[in-house]
Amino acid sequence: MAEFEKTTMAQNFIHNFIDEDIAPGGQFAGRTVHTRFPPEPNGYLHIGHAKAIYVDFGTADKYHGMCNLRMDDTNPTKEDVEFVDAIQEDIKWLGYDWEDRFYYASDYFEQMYQYAVELIEKGLAYVCQLSAEEMAANRGDINVPATSPYRDRPIAESLDLFRRMREGEFPDGAMTLRAKIDLASGNFNMRDPAIYRIKHQRHHRTGDAWCIYPMYDFAHPIEDAIEGITHSLCTLEFEAHRPLYDWVRDNISCPYKPRQIEFARLGIDHTVMSKRKLRQLVEEGYVSGWDDPRMPTICGLRRRGYTPASIRSFSEQIGVAKADSTVEYAFLESCLRADLDRTAERVMAVLHPIPLTIVNYPEGQSESFTIENHPKDPEMGTREVSFSRHLFIEADDFMEEPVKKYKRLSPGGMECRLKGAYVIRCVGCNKDENGNVTEILAEYDPDSRGGDPADGRKIKGAAIHWVDAETAVDAEVRLYDNLFDDAAPDAAGKNFLECLNPHSLEVLKGCKLEASLADAKAPASFQFMRLGYFCVDNRDSKPGAPVFNRSVSLKDSFKK
Ligand code: ATP
Ligand code: MG
Repeated sequence: MAEFEKTTMAQNFIHNFIDEDIAPGGQFAGRTVHTRFPPEPNGYLHIGHAKAIYVDFGTADKYHGMCNLRMDDTNPTKEDVEFVDAIQEDIKWLGYDWEDRFYYASDYFEQMYQYAVELIEKGLAYVCQLSAEEMAANRGDINVPATSPYRDRPIAESLDLFRRMREGEFPDGAMTLRAKIDLASGNFNMRDPAIYRIKHQRHHRTGDAWCIYPMYDFAHPIEDAIEGITHSLCTLEFEAHRPLYDWVRDNISCPYKPRQIEFARLGIDHTVMSKRKLRQLVEEGYVSGWDDPRMPTICGLRRRGYTPASIRSFSEQIGVAKADSTVEYAFLESCLRADLDRTAERVMAVLHPIPLTIVNYPEGQSESFTIENHPKDPEMGTREVSFSRHLFIEADDFMEEPVKKYKRLSPGGMECRLKGAYVIRCVGCNKDENGNVTEILAEYDPDSRGGDPADGRKIKGAAIHWVDAETAVDAEVRLYDNLFDDAAPDAAGKNFLECLNPHSLEVLKGCKLEASLADAKAPASFQFMRLGYFCVDNRDSKPGAPVFNRSVSLKDSFKK
């Protein structure tokens, strides 16, 4: 079945601003809407980034505009090509395309430096020799302005010192370049913020060319302006930094004047979303890697069986607002379930197998049933499923001493259907010396081929799933639960590692799958009838030794 069509993003408050900006007389009248997604390549993308990608690329699409992909790599530590590659792979997988507009912020270091020189020349920046501690001690409070004894040093002196900072004359922390804005501002970001610092550190792209690096608040508006971005969409924590963004933008001679608009960050319950914490989970071995199927990373969700369509649909439905909120993990799951319900083939797999022998079905005989791949979509075709005297069924579809209202198999109990095959009645079971049931015995009704008895009698028991023991494939199946029991492991004051769910992974070996699944390859997803949606593990599954992940259960726990 075709993927969900990519729909046009619903109108939100950002679009209302854009509409004003591009209307006649607006600040971007006649311009093409141009956004960017600016990840820092210090980790893998997570579902929060997927929302930002949706907002950035989706908004550009809505206006037939452009969206750049920019590695925001102004910070010399931590960045890594592994992350750069993974980020590109994840964005493409989500279905977005930056075409030929792939940039690195570090490519603008020279321009940034020149803009800093321009600010000094205009009397709008100065070299300050307060240490970080002194600067903090002199930042004042709401009633007391900040101070710096270096604020009024001559322009020529600052120019000279800044050049020598660049040339490596001074050690880390000896001085900073500060924007000269307003030491008494009620917004502390405007109290002459540092815009360059000394850091004798190698950069993963520029090597040792630089020992001074621009601060984010200075670098970001310049990156946007250089690329001709019209709308710089970012998360709410940058709202208080917008006056500084505007100040930099308006005081440098770049002709482009981008507009920053903030929207709410995505938080999801039972998970953590900061790259630092996700990295810690990986590095300290709490998960198997960035793509562990319990991780909220894009690659983890992909391995779990999430589809690009389900993530886009999730992003669309949670909406874009100005107030932070936490979305239920169950809602993300319900978006996946809705997509897989439409697209996943229905197959039979037994996770906790127990042998079932049809005592009146001849040994050595077999037949096959033609079963629809999807009950609501004939275009998905049919497949042949083999049947013989020896089957496997789910252990909990049998109870020797049934509880009240038990509608499955028990000796002499009600008749049940074997899905798509025959009606059977349990006639007994065999046990080992410890009294454990090792085999269930049943008789079938030969006049019920396809599942309905010829005489039309009512079958009171359930329709249970099964696989033919003669052709079944052994598989490992991994069941997942929330990585954190605590609904808010990310909350301030909590040690997220103490919130981990010790039962988040359950590995089942010796599961029995119908033969059609022997060669299934990732990213195939299936509905294992009565059990849930499962996908082929994209890392560990091998031909002949399949490994499946439970993507999501069948039952929707999300309460709308
Ligand atoms: P983290 O705190 O996880 O490291 P970050 O904001 O530092 O995240 P960046 O790589 O700088 O990560 O983020 C790139 C873009 O993605 C930014 O525009 C940022 O605002 C956005 N983004 C990051 N996390 C979220 C989130 N949870 N919800 C929405 N957007 C997000
Ligand atoms: Mg960041």
